[in-house]
Amino acid sequence: GGDVQATDEASEATDFSLRTGDVVDETTYPMVPHMCDEDARFQTFQAWPPSSPVRPRDLAQAGLFYEGQEDRVQCFCCGIQLSQWVSGDDPWTEHSKYSRNCFFILGHDVGNVPSLNGDS
Ligand SMILES: [Zn+2]
Repeated sequence: GGDVQATDEASEATDFSLRTGDVVDETTYPMVPHMCDEDARFQTFQAWPPSSPVRPRDLAQAGLFYEGQEDRVQCFCCGIQLSQWVSGDDPWTEHSKYSRNCFFILGHDVGNVPSLNGDS
């Protein structure tokens, strides 16, 4: 048995809880249920700053929708807010970096509806 003293202890404990189903159902529920639909999220980016280095489609695919102010977006699942995007940023990477326990990032079924007309 190892004595985990690293800073990752908290997240490892969470991962363990997820595997054992120890997490209450409430936490799996999206913070913003009406933004479960990727196309609905994409529609919020109509006034997205054209100078922003990240694309609305990529943001929508990463679970994020636009709040209409500057370049601030929010995750429909965990509710985290991200802004100040710079060139080279990847929405999915940034999302997972700042909210590594987001159930959407972790691949859980949180009700996400992928777009049927993505431009990939
Ligand atoms: Zn999230």
